[in-house]
Amino acid sequence: MSSIVIKGVQVMSKGGGSGKEKDIYIEGNLIEEVTDVDVRRREAEFVIQGHDKVAIPGLFNAHTHAAMTLLRGYADDMPLQDWLSEKIWPVEVRLTEEDVYWGTKLACLEMIKSGTVFFNDMYWHFRGSARAVAESGLRAALSAVFIDGFDEERAKEQMRMNERLYHDSKGLSDRIIFVLGPHALYTVSEESLCWVRDFAERHDLLVHIHLSETEEEVKSCIDRYGMRPVEYLDSIGFLSPRTIAAHCVHLSRRELALLKQHETKIVHNPASNMKLASGRMPYEQMKEAGLYRNIALGTDGCASNNNLDMFEEMKIASLFHKAFTNPTVMPAEEAFELATVNPARMFRLNSGAIEAGKLADIVLLDLKNVELVPNHNLISNIVYAANGSCVDTVICDGKILMSGREVEGEEELKEKAREVAHRLVNGS
Ligand SMILES: [Zn+2]
Repeated sequence: MSSIVIKGVQVMSKGGGSGKEKDIYIEGNLIEEVTDVDVRRREAEFVIQGHDKVAIPGLFNAHTHAAMTLLRGYADDMPLQDWLSEKIWPVEVRLTEEDVYWGTKLACLEMIKSGTVFFNDMYWHFRGSARAVAESGLRAALSAVFIDGFDEERAKEQMRMNERLYHDSKGLSDRIIFVLGPHALYTVSEESLCWVRDFAERHDLLVHIHLSETEEEVKSCIDRYGMRPVEYLDSIGFLSPRTIAAHCVHLSRRELALLKQHETKIVHNPASNMKLASGRMPYEQMKEAGLYRNIALGTDGCASNNNLDMFEEMKIASLFHKAFTNPTVMPAEEAFELATVNPARMFRLNSGAIEAGKLADIVLLDLKNVELVPNHNLISNIVYAANGSCVDTVICDGKILMSGREVEGEEELKEKAREVAHRLVNGS
């Protein structure tokens, strides 16, 4: 079992301030002990000097489509439907498993460089993503895109594929969680949704779905089923604490109450919602409905963000809601919890805090980075001033993935990803 000691590092305290310097001992994939400096003089395989650094829990990206990094900047500033049908979908039909592998590798690199240790993904070619995650050292919840287009044959195919993937997932890295990914109500039939509901219950699986992202989506649900999306999902018994609903932009108060009743989880994607002008679900209303602990933040895919930096996402989330209400809404401490403790609980991971017994998912920020000077208030700096480039070291599952901002194989990976992205978009 490998061991690491981080010597003399400031450890973020509860509530977000930077505490006094400590030594953090990591044994295997767990934090064994956080002690005062030099009280133990134990040998460790790796020694990290923590001076001028602060240790914070690694960040969680609770909704993304990682391989879409290949489409970063490919199409912007368009209405959502045109953007999808003219630009994104025509390229996505050409994707191969190899493309998804390289796109996900690129995404993992970007996430490591910006202090993210976990992401929740839904994309094509599951096996390509799984291979990239296994190699990257990150954690991920992965789901294949389940779309049947209301076609019975396609539905059966998707069910069989998911059964197979679930079965095979037992042989994957412990850092990968297999999740079911019914895409959305406008692309998946009721029969398939019920199959997902039952399969998830039988095997205790999480379910990742896009929900009420746009107003048109809500209208189409009312046209088809005579109910709003959450009411409909409730009527077929689909909602549970295992359901992870991305976006949730257009919800009535009754729908919020239903989500609370079932302890369904919500992933808020403020940058994507603003860029695609999807709308704003008032954060204060979600909180009033008692949903605070059930909310996490996500970047969504790179084609609609256009990066995977969770520091930026925390800031955007907080500013987005303040802009329409008042400056006290979503204070920095809350924005930080939406990217750490809340998603850790959501994905059933003993992570999201730096304490003995927790998984060793630790990010060291460089306090010499100009955005962190001066350091009157660490949590304020993290949410409102920092960005991914303040990250110096990333440890995930007890392994050092980045040290001094260096990640092994970075240049070769970027070169290859550039090539794959160019071929994908230009066809040669
Ligand atoms: Zn999405």
